[in-house]
Amino acid sequence: MLRRLLTPFLIALSALALVGAAPATAAPAERSAPPRQTVLHYDADQAAEYASAVAEAAAVWNSSVSNVHLEPASAGQHAEIRIVADDGWPRAQLGPVRPGGQVTVWMGREGTAEGYDAVRIAAHELGHSLGLPDAKPGPCSSLMSGSTGGVNCTNPYPDASERARVEAHYGTGPTGRRPTDGRLLIDRG
Ligand SMILES: [Zn+2]
Repeated sequence: MLRRLLTPFLIALSALALVGAAPATAAPAERSAPPRQTVLHYDADQAAEYASAVAEAAAVWNSSVSNVHLEPASAGQHAEIRIVADDGWPRAQLGPVRPGGQVTVWMGREGTAEGYDAVRIAAHELGHSLGLPDAKPGPCSSLMSGSTGGVNCTNPYPDASERARVEAHYGTGPTGRRPTDGRLLIDRG
């Protein structure tokens, strides 16, 4: 008899516990402040055979810096970085591009035709979008050394100083408010 009375009570109690528990687990995620990170969208619709190299290069940047994040633009969405494959030399407009602005990267086929690595080229050109100038001549360990890192260099990762510069371009200090340069930088092999 007691058991028959208790059972519905216990069911009701555990239901209440479940109701009570749900918001408690969801709340911390909602309460925590969103990360202060600039999100830039890139449009690789015209990147042709370089689309996967561009996606790899964006992932390299996303794993290398935290103040800025590159995401593929969805259909109809404004892209801050437009990527176009053509038959010239790889080249790009110097950033740092800001949300709502736009710079273009040209994945010129001359670079890969000369034997340079497509992912390193894409990461280098995206480096220009994020405001890094060329650092030529330089070693393979430097991303912005570009072709001077050697034709066999496949390193797509920015070095510590390159990472620090990009963090500053999208940081809270004065460099974080630097306007987009827009200059065209041509990467002849
Ligand atoms: Zn360059």
